[in-house]
Amino acid sequence: MMEKFFNYFDRGLLVILLIPLIIFNFPIFPKSLSEIIFIAASIIGTIPVLISGIKSIKGKRISVDLLASVALIASMVAQEWTSAAFINLMLTSARIFGNYTKNKARSSIESLLKLRPKTAKVKRGNNILEIPIEQIKVDDLIVVESGERLSVDGTVIQGEAAINQASLTGESVPVNKKAGDQVFSSTLNESGSLVVKAEKVGKDTTLEKIVQLVEESQKGKPKIRSIGDAFASRYIVITVSIAILVYLITNDFNLVLALLLVACADDIAVAIPMVFWAAIGYAAHRGVIIKGGEFLEGLAHVKTIVFDKTGTLTRGKLKVQQVHFYKGFTKEILLHYAASAECVSNHPIAKSIMEYVVNEKVSYKKPEIFKEIPGKGLAVVYDSKKIFSGHLSFIKESKIKITAEQSREIEGIEAQGYTVTIVGCNDKLVGYIALADELRHNSLLVMQQLKQAGVEKLIMLTGDNKSVAARVAKELVLDEFHAGLMPQDKLKYIKGALQKDSKMAMVGDGVNDAAALSLADVGISMGAIGSDAAIEAADIALMRDDLREIPEMVRLSRYTLKIAHQDFWIWGAVNVIGFALVFGHVIGPVGAAAYNFITDFLPLLNSARLFKLHLQLKK
Ligand code: ADP
Ligand code: MG
Repeated sequence: MMEKFFNYFDRGLLVILLIPLIIFNFPIFPKSLSEIIFIAASIIGTIPVLISGIKSIKGKRISVDLLASVALIASMVAQEWTSAAFINLMLTSARIFGNYTKNKARSSIESLLKLRPKTAKVKRGNNILEIPIEQIKVDDLIVVESGERLSVDGTVIQGEAAINQASLTGESVPVNKKAGDQVFSSTLNESGSLVVKAEKVGKDTTLEKIVQLVEESQKGKPKIRSIGDAFASRYIVITVSIAILVYLITNDFNLVLALLLVACADDIAVAIPMVFWAAIGYAAHRGVIIKGGEFLEGLAHVKTIVFDKTGTLTRGKLKVQQVHFYKGFTKEILLHYAASAECVSNHPIAKSIMEYVVNEKVSYKKPEIFKEIPGKGLAVVYDSKKIFSGHLSFIKESKIKITAEQSREIEGIEAQGYTVTIVGCNDKLVGYIALADELRHNSLLVMQQLKQAGVEKLIMLTGDNKSVAARVAKELVLDEFHAGLMPQDKLKYIKGALQKDSKMAMVGDGVNDAAALSLADVGISMGAIGSDAAIEAADIALMRDDLREIPEMVRLSRYTLKIAHQDFWIWGAVNVIGFALVFGHVIGPVGAAAYNFITDFLPLLNSARLFKLHLQLKK
């Protein structure tokens, strides 16, 4: 409401101010009339600036509006109405331009919402009804034909389709979806047809969450902006002091007024936030949610990146390589026990074991009681038996009898680079399942790109065994790795790393590492689509499961900061030149106000370069 009012207020004022300025030299307008308009417009225009200036004093801040108020009052006292009009012209146009860019950044995010269809086909009994999406409820069955976009997040019940998820992930290669797979609102069915059970509708969908998060991100304050503010307040104090000093020495009020008119600046306060909005909006269209300008800024300064292993550097889709059972058991029993425990877990190991067991057509049942110990494994009660499935050290802790020879055998398998899950029942060792994970095919390239981008240290943390970790670290040429870590050890490591001066980022998949992600200077989660935990824990969430976005975001963050710094330099240079012109008596108050009005656009135009990135996206 208020915002709308001020929009019209600013535009109206701009017109009123421009008319007499333009026809200033054409005497078709009686001079007295144009003066009256000037005076009226100056007074009206001063009111909002003055209010904001006073507000800033109350908030114990010194703002640019305060300086503008001083300049405006000074010029009105001196009855320099043309100067006052120019300052007002400058302030209103800066406000209009600022609002314009803010809206542009916002609409770039909201354009995502437009991809959501307005109606959906819902199956009710034997009928298919087309209803507005606001009326869809959880558990409704939605029919999605080829060429249509999804209206909800949900699970495929029936059918098969190639789904283009570019609206959320930025990746336009379609993904095949079949019964049991998750699908998301706003994604496009390119071919095939699906029946989807709605699980999240309206505000709860991933799409809406992304838009909300990105909009909130604009409230956060990156340091460069705070530095900007601190700098601005010092700058204002110095300028006002100098102005007073100059007046005391020269007694030349016009000179002082001209000085204030050059100094009073609104542009930098708009130019800097604009850079961050543009960058965050661009990232959102690539499927990367950045939760605030401060994280973009943090990423630009990152010297150390810590990676989780499973599901981050590796694909997290492990393949069962060996199944070994001990005397008194069979392969079926081993798999039956393992599955009856692992079926409650979300861990990549659990998912891989379950896939294998289902393929082998071995039956399993949900355990009666279960407990997942992060970084160790599972302890469950199934069929009145205690079943354990997990890491060797965990099995030993669980008082399962294991001979030195068996222990050596398992360590031997680990030394070959396998991740071994050991299964125990009550106090007996049942057997083990050896799994192997693959590196993501582009992870070496990504590590090289990060090094080239100036990241000094690449570190891997893992709960997996040392042999597997060493192999991965060697293949990716990492600087450091730490294996056999519990989630709390990972936290401790991050805490230690945070004490060092340089910034560090942590990259994980949100499984078992949410705490570490939120502790790091910049927490980055991968493959966040479909995982609320991964979106919530991270400062930067990559919707797509693609490591290549990390160097891309490092580059974006550096570019953003570069432009923000350039804005400061341009602003500084413009002011220095302006002061020289004033002291050299080249320009008086009117000239100073006009100079300021014109040069105000330079940092804004520089910031606008970031919007060019959006154009690249559309290609
Ligand atoms: P990473 O650090 O590689 O992401 P985690 O911390 O998630 O690994 O797990 C560390 C180790 O704990 C795994 O290598 C595995 O041995 C064991 N583990 C954790 N969860 C499970 C599970 N659900 N089933 C079997 N083993 C598990
Ligand atoms: Mg993990």
